[in-house]
Amino acid sequence: MLNLKRIERLLAENNINPKTVPYGALLHAAAALKSTVHPSEPEWSREELLDALHSKKPLFAMQSVKIDPQEFVRVFEALRTAAVDAMPSMAEKLEGMPGAQDFFTQERLDALCANPEAIWEMLEKDGVDVEAATELFVPVAIFALRVFFDDAASRASDALDRLEPDTVHFERSLKCPVCGATAAVGAVQSTQNRGNIKRLYCTCCGAHWRFERIRCALCGDEAVSDLQYVHLQGDDKHRLHVCANCGGAMPTIFGVDEDNFDPNLEHWRCGELMAAYADMQSEQQKPAGNA
Ligand SMILES: [Zn+2]
Ligand SMILES: [Zn+2]
Repeated sequence: MLNLKRIERLLAENNINPKTVPYGALLHAAAALKSTVHPSEPEWSREELLDALHSKKPLFAMQSVKIDPQEFVRVFEALRTAAVDAMPSMAEKLEGMPGAQDFFTQERLDALCANPEAIWEMLEKDGVDVEAATELFVPVAIFALRVFFDDAASRASDALDRLEPDTVHFERSLKCPVCGATAAVGAVQSTQNRGNIKRLYCTCCGAHWRFERIRCALCGDEAVSDLQYVHLQGDDKHRLHVCANCGGAMPTIFGVDEDNFDPNLEHWRCGELMAAYADMQSEQQKPAGNA
């Protein structure tokens, strides 16, 4: 959850100065902006929650928050300013990008609230360089949506958890059961009476959900022989769950205690590991790993 005090504490503990690090600036500004917005929040029925839990349809595709375009543009621009203030050269990354006012119409915001990944089609339709948009425009847009989604997603995650029967097996959702986006990061947490459990986290809306421990979060493969964890020497807290079936690598954090865990921050901290793994792959070397 985007809680300003908590984010400030975690940024400080991780030596990330939001005044000089653009990603820290976005996260900090998003948490600060959350108290300034007032999206209307949906109430989902038990049936809708069950459908989402069982991967039939994400909750936001059934009922989502409603965002006022003016309020959204204000948040988008505040986030963009925070990133550029942290690193002025970031401004170049917005060259050729659409203006927020023109891009985020009510119609488009309604579509994004139902399916945030629709942003890619919108960019393509407007002839925007999609690759260049991933540098700053899309991250700012996703953080802006998060500001409006966060409370609803947090409530939804709690409601989904309450529905989850501990004993009955069903396949967990690969996509976020709340907004439908791809999970950003997994976390393994030890619990008092249920042993180690794994959760996936969506950094688009802020939701989290239970997931099988031995299963690829990207393709759903459950073959033990296809899956392994790799990590850098000296840091076994941040690992990649790599899958031979799809070639994917899901950042996964071990030994998580909830008070000191922020999925955005940990995902970002896995960047070095992801780059190292990509290098190793391209060199065709086998990384040091444990199954
Ligand atoms: Zn989500
Ligand atoms: Zn896979």
